[in-house]
Amino acid sequence: MYSYYNDNTILYIDGEYRKAAESTTDLYGQSLHYGYAVFEGIRAYKTASGEVKIFKAKEHYDRLRRSCELIHIPFKWTNEELIEATYKVLELNNMEEAYIRPLVFCPPNMTLKAASEAHILICAWEWGAYLGEKLLKIMTSSYERPNPKAFKIESKSAGLYVNSILASQEAKEKGYDEGLLLDQQGFVAEGPGANVFFEKDGKVYTPPPGSILPGITRATVIELCHELNIPIEEKLFTIDELKKADAAWFCGTAAEVVGLESLDGQPFGKPWAQSLGKVLQQAYKARVLEKEFERAEQLA
Ligand code: PMP
Repeated sequence: MYSYYNDNTILYIDGEYRKAAESTTDLYGQSLHYGYAVFEGIRAYKTASGEVKIFKAKEHYDRLRRSCELIHIPFKWTNEELIEATYKVLELNNMEEAYIRPLVFCPPNMTLKAASEAHILICAWEWGAYLGEKLLKIMTSSYERPNPKAFKIESKSAGLYVNSILASQEAKEKGYDEGLLLDQQGFVAEGPGANVFFEKDGKVYTPPPGSILPGITRATVIELCHELNIPIEEKLFTIDELKKADAAWFCGTAAEVVGLESLDGQPFGKPWAQSLGKVLQQAYKARVLEKEFERAEQLA
């Protein structure tokens, strides 16, 4: 099993910096029993100037707050204090490149009443690209994304991730790298922990919000398309349309931008190296590292 901490690792909990190995949680917590918790996944990078920077920290903490509001978990912290605590966790652990995991969880309560107080944990560990560097073979999942009428789908809530575990596990058992989930109407939604994009005839497409977690990486990729004059459209599409794509990719904080090789065994039309996905993958890397990126140079 991967070790997320050692005897020296420090985490932040409710205003204090403590050793991870000596920190405990209550086994009667509502979060543990009912999946009633909210979390974030953030990355810090050692940027071109040598400075360690948390990528889009404000956007992530805004989403953490919004996720809590949506499912009625009290959120009493400011972005400023959370961002400061996150940099301090990186510093105390001597980390330059890290995956950061804030988690808001609730105290003991075995009823189904909304929480009246909550705790916050911020921990970090060194983590390579979550889905690896190579192109992924994905399959259409037999699991749909949770019904947006049955849940606050835009809340990054712990309980929702059982759906992601089921889809990911199914794909692995069938020999694929990852699954791709559809929405209730049969349109493509997203991966278990990443958003999906495709390229067709020089234009880029991604599903609109509705049945997806509107990712911060997704927003960055859309921004990069605008900056690089790559036409981009948010629209619903089917698996059949996606199978005719020239290229496709997943994106998320943990995965970054990762190319897809095939869907249900059918390869995408273009070599990845010639795709707009590759351009955006490089532009994303440059953005998080605060490096200049010239598209012309990339294509030359
Ligand atoms: N969809 C799901 C279901 C996710 O878990 C994630 C990862 N947070 C994403 C999309 C991508 O979101 P982001 O780019 O904000 O990490």
